[in-house]
Amino acid sequence: ALGGATVMAEAMGVSTFRYKVVIFLIAALLASVSGWLFAHVQRTVNPSPFGLKMGIEYLFMAVVGGVSSVWGAFVGAGVFKIIEDQLKELLPALLGSNGNFEIIVLGIVLVLMLKYAPKGLWPSLQGLLSRWWPAARRERDWEGAAALASRPKPPAGSVLLRVDRLRKQFGGLVAVNDVSFELRAGEIMGLIGPNGAGKSTTFNLVSGVLPATSGELRFAGESITGLPARQIARRGLSRTFQHVKMIADMTVLENVALGGYLRSHSGTAKAMLRLDRAEERRLFAEAESQLRRIGMQDHLHELAGNLALGPQRLMEIARALCADPSLLLLDEPAAGLRHKEKQALAAVLRQLRAEGMSILLVEHDMDFVMGLTDRIVVMEFGTKLIEGTPAEVQASPEVRAAYLGTEH
Ligand code: ADP
Ligand code: MG
Repeated sequence: ALGGATVMAEAMGVSTFRYKVVIFLIAALLASVSGWLFAHVQRTVNPSPFGLKMGIEYLFMAVVGGVSSVWGAFVGAGVFKIIEDQLKELLPALLGSNGNFEIIVLGIVLVLMLKYAPKGLWPSLQGLLSRWWPAARRERDWEGAAALASRPKPPAGSVLLRVDRLRKQFGGLVAVNDVSFELRAGEIMGLIGPNGAGKSTTFNLVSGVLPATSGELRFAGESITGLPARQIARRGLSRTFQHVKMIADMTVLENVALGGYLRSHSGTAKAMLRLDRAEERRLFAEAESQLRRIGMQDHLHELAGNLALGPQRLMEIARALCADPSLLLLDEPAAGLRHKEKQALAAVLRQLRAEGMSILLVEHDMDFVMGLTDRIVVMEFGTKLIEGTPAEVQASPEVRAAYLGTEH
């Protein structure tokens, strides 16, 4: 997640900065141990083995092998040493003079690698090998694992989210213009409006992904104005994204389990020593049951990146549910779903509401919104147009003019 999905990880409660520091420290520790061994063997230390050239060589090994796997490091180091050795003999013979010409050739190889195989050799090699040597798949060992603790739901009808004169400006553009509304526990609220109305920006402000320019946010009676996404997630708000954010080369199950991050307690040290396995089983059991609920039980071990857009969205909902939120924010959950899948999703959302979940959703499919929501807020050009029940919104001439009129 640190590699390319930090916004998502933060929204799931992870302090990505903290983990980057932890990883840096672990790397520094390993480097210092190697340095100590090196000095021990050499009996002497001078600066040249630690010069820029060596730094570039290590970088080369990592990039050629593939930075995201342990085997990549071995492959990269091996390939590098072989190429270097060959070039040292070949180049002087070819060029007729001595010099560090291999550096130039290696530089060209590095540029080509970054352009044509930025993930390194190992991922492609693994693809080839997988015919005879399939990638180890995690055993399904979480049957009967104890359920994770869940948070008490706020009393139905109490004000769960209060948005007060919320405003966001991007330079001169006012994307969200002093919008206010309230969401009560146990209801499904829709946020609709034409493209560019500011719905996703409102979601980003409420979930702390973007800082608001001004305005107040209260969640479960507590001010969350200005808090970062991970702190808001901790208080029981979970979300999906309009543009799916996931870790494409991890399985669906693993992606969903990440949503349960805040419900786990084992830290880095425990995880490194594999003392977190019992908790991990509980997380996977939870992830599987959320995927089952959303109808994705047949895709548990597929790579998330190989799913079609519709199932990717469902996976995000399962991930958000895995956090055991009291408020769920869904940005266009039904986009890319077929009619049957939409109906199934609506049934799941109704079931969640019956269990005490509160939901705020953005959606373009009017049948879906009108049939599902208790109340609707309509936005246009960043401003709240009206708020009311689906029937009131459908009857409103303003909404027809601004939105429905153009759609139907
Ligand atoms: P919606 O989700 O209702 O379609 P958005 O909230 O995505 O609308 O966008 C509202 C407006 O804010 C649009 O005009 C969009 O171009 C603009 N906008 C959204 N995000 C940014 C950003 N990060 N920087 C600048 N402008 C943005
Ligand atoms: Mg949007």
